[in-house]
This record gives sequence, structure tokens and C-alpha cells, in this order.
Amino acid sequence: MTPIGHWIAGTLVPGPSGRTAPVYDPALGVQTAEVALASAAEVDTAVQSAVEASRAWGSSSLTRRTGFLFRLRELLDANRDELAAAVTREHGKVLEDARGEVARGIENVEFACGIPSHLKGSSNSEISTGVDIRTVLEPLGVVAGITPFNFPVMVPLWMMANAIACGNCFVLKPSEKDPSASLILADLVQRAGFPDGVLTVLQGDGEAVDALLGHRDVAAVSFVGSTPVARHVYETGTRHGKRVQALGGAKNHMVVLPDADLDAAADAAVSAAYGSAGERCMAISVVVAVGSVADQLVEAIAARIGDVVIGDGRDPASMMGPLVTQEHRDRVLTYVEQAAGEGATVVVDGSGTLRGTGFFLGCSLLDDVKPGMRVYDDEIFGPVLSVVRVPTLDDALALVNENPYGNGTALFTRDGGAARRFEREVHVGMVGVNVPIPVPVASHSFGGWKASIFGDSSIYGPDGVRFYTRPKVVTSRWPDPGPGAVELHFPTNR
Ligand code: NAD
Repeated sequence: MTPIGHWIAGTLVPGPSGRTAPVYDPALGVQTAEVALASAAEVDTAVQSAVEASRAWGSSSLTRRTGFLFRLRELLDANRDELAAAVTREHGKVLEDARGEVARGIENVEFACGIPSHLKGSSNSEISTGVDIRTVLEPLGVVAGITPFNFPVMVPLWMMANAIACGNCFVLKPSEKDPSASLILADLVQRAGFPDGVLTVLQGDGEAVDALLGHRDVAAVSFVGSTPVARHVYETGTRHGKRVQALGGAKNHMVVLPDADLDAAADAAVSAAYGSAGERCMAISVVVAVGSVADQLVEAIAARIGDVVIGDGRDPASMMGPLVTQEHRDRVLTYVEQAAGEGATVVVDGSGTLRGTGFFLGCSLLDDVKPGMRVYDDEIFGPVLSVVRVPTLDDALALVNENPYGNGTALFTRDGGAARRFEREVHVGMVGVNVPIPVPVASHSFGGWKASIFGDSSIYGPDGVRFYTRPKVVTSRWPDPGPGAVELHFPTNR
């Protein structure tokens, strides 16, 4: 069994704690590796090495940091296939989807390459007579990132690109379900020239997370995962005086008005509900069919489900892969099995699609779903799409706004006025108009509302830069300076 260890001070370290967890190839349903689970003592050793590295890294020049970031961008670009293959091998999503994840992750490094512009701060000359004032953005020191299984490349890059560009040392605690991509990232960071200790990878589970949350040398924690754990991370981290951003789960509604392009809406619903087997925090899990559109829309979605090819993500013909673990597959299956008993109409039952020994589950479509049913209330995180029928746009807005989650939503319509009203009145952080998965590009920050986020900072983009820095305001008065040394050569950056 392949052992998967930590990356500390630029070296692969096997986990001395002796605690491990199995890693599977979900398409084959077999264990392929054994990942180390860090103890509190191992967390402490790793954080100490990051603290040592952070002294020099925090005062390294922006020119130097930018040079490393550009090299990292090139190395990520050259290793897209290796990263995507690792994602497919342990997560199960199809290769094309894994490549998309890698591409969206690289965007964040490209954004971070502009760090001299992002860290410009602000200033006023002569704020008072002979006095200048400027606000500078300084790094925090050592910051940690805890990431979910569903984007093992993209979500770590959401965090670490800005964190290290801002001058922090970053400790990544990836999901124990698909840990291999994190070590490829660590290798690329080293090959890009970043000093040892700028990136640390600590494999582990809740024990490592709690040790990071309580560690006095960890200044800030970014978390992406399920809502119960996000709440725990936020409450525990802030209790220990840390800055915390914790992004949680979701239940994303796609509202379809009667005037929408029905084919485009049905294509979008199928793509956004069943892509990555529904294991996306921005997946559409509820279609809200408004008024007369419902029957035709359900029929159009059901017709398309028949064309979804399910299989091993390495097979180019596959459109949807397996779920990440057998345990998760079985949990999702219970929702499909119980739906009819709860009063839903099962239009497409994917529970029979259990191929071979892999953790596969077919696409399910449930109609006549209502709040109060488990299939509506819970985040299922699998290939199960519910349809809720409502009479008007007002009812659709009320439904979306009463839902405790507020990550993403979409409206499909040709009516600009209705779209504008929806955009203004919906209580959700990321809104798509005829765009089913409105994940912002890296120059805009990502963040939901309500139970989809804890803390007041979205992740990546401008919010990421703010999160990983603290402002310092310098007020200065200087007598006339004397002349400096004579230098006749053309000035260069250092
Ligand atoms: P998870 O909450 O189970 O795990 C996330 C991380 O927390 C992992 O690194 C895990 O090791 C750690 N963890 C798990 N249990 C813990 C505990 N009790 N104490 C401390 N740490 C613990 O989430 P997951 O199953 O890996 O990922 C799927 C979830 O993530 C879904 O709910 C999905 O909506 C959410 N997600 C949200 C976003 C977003 O941006 N809002 C993005 C991706 C995924």
C-alpha cells in the first residue's frame, strides 16, 4: 500500500504518529494508499518550521515573490495532466472536469502574480504640514488552510496563492480522502524556487484541524468544507483569537421562468446537477419550476439524463464518475430510496446504476419536492436533482430566501426586468443569470451568505489579499534628508 506523508521544511516526512486512513480509487472501489494522520505533536513540529521560514519570507521583496509566482504558474501549466490524473484517481471526477478544476486553480496564481499592485496600500502626502501618512499591508505570519475532498487542487490554490504572495507561510491540511494532489503542489512550489517552509502540507483529520485551531503560532485559518465543520472551525478558531474565514455547504436553486429558453435551461440543469456527480458546492440541487414551465422542463431534463454516460473518469467517453467513497455513495442512495415515501415523485431512479465494485450511482430526478422533506432540507452532495414547483417568481424568491444556505443560485429567463429584480432581491452570495454555476473568476472574490459562510471575508481575489494581510498606518515627519550615495548605473530591482 502506498504511504502518503507530510511535506515539512521542503522534505517528505512519513507520519510518525502511526495513525493512518485509507485512500481509494473510487472508480475501481479499491484501496490504493494509506495517508498519515498528523498528531498534535506533528502539527506543532510543522508549524514551528513554518514560523522559522516566515521570518525571512515575510520581508522578502515583492519582486522576488513575483518571480517565484510566475515560475509556479508555468510549472502548474506544464503539469496540468499530472495534477488532473491525481484528482481523477482519488476523487473520481472525469479527467476533463479535473482539468477544469486545475485551470480554475491556476487562475488564482495568475491573480497573485499581480501582488505588487494588490499590496499598494494608500497614502497622503502632507496630511498635516510636513507630515505624510500611509497605510501598508503586512503579512500575518503563519496561516493555515483546511480543504475539502471535492476540489483537491483548486481550493488549496484559492488559499495558498494569495497567502504566500502576501508574505505568509501557508500550512495546508488537505482532505484525507484525496491527499496526493497536495504533494504534487508542494513539489511544484519547491521547484518554482520558493524557500523551504513557505508551504507545509500536513495530512490529517479532525485531530490535526483542532491542533491547528488551538496553536498559538497560527494567525489565521481558511476553511472550506461542510457547514457543521465550518461552524466548529469558526467558533474554535475565533475563540483562540484567530482570524477565520469558514466556507460551508450549500443547497443551490436554479429558478426557471416560463419565458426561458427551455433547451438551454434543461442543458444547464443537467450539467450543473450531475457534473462531478453532484459533488460541487455550487452544484444545482434544486430546480424551481415557475408556473407553466414545469411539465415540459421535467420532461426535457429526464430526456437528457438518459444520455449521461457514467463510468471510470479515465475513460474519455465517461461524463460522470463515481462518488468519492462507498460510505458517501450509500448515504446519497438513502435519499433516493426514501424520496417516494416522503411524497416526491421519482421521475428518474439512479439507484440501480451500481456498476462493478466502484462507488457509482446513477442520476436521479425527483419531482414535486417540498421544503420539510429530507431530500430538500439536506445538502445531499450527490447526483440527485429535486424539482420544486411554484406558481410565481415571488414564490420562487421566497423559497430561495427562506433556505438556510445562500451559496449560489441561478435564474433562467429572457426577461431583463425579472432578472434584475431576482438579482436585487435574492439572499444569496453568488448569482447567475442564465449561468448555472456562477463561480467568480479569480479577480472577484468567492463567498456565499447565511449558513454557507462563517466570518466576514469571502475567499480569494481582493478579499483574499485583505484576509491574509493586516494594515499598518504610518504617520511620519522628516527633516530635509541629506544626499545619498552616488550610483550612476541604471537602477534594478532587488
Ligand atoms: P468536511 O467538512 O467533511 O471536511 C472538510 C475538511 O475538514 C477536511 O479537511 C476534513 O479533514 C476536515 N474535518 C472533517 N471533519 C472534521 C471535524 N469534525 N473537525 C475538524 N475538521 C474536520 O467536507 P468534505 O466532505 O471534505 O467536503 C464537502 C463539503 O464541502 C460540502 O458540504 C460542500 O458543500 C463543501 N464545500 C463548500 C465550498 C464552498 O466554497 N462553500 C467549496 C467546496 C466544498
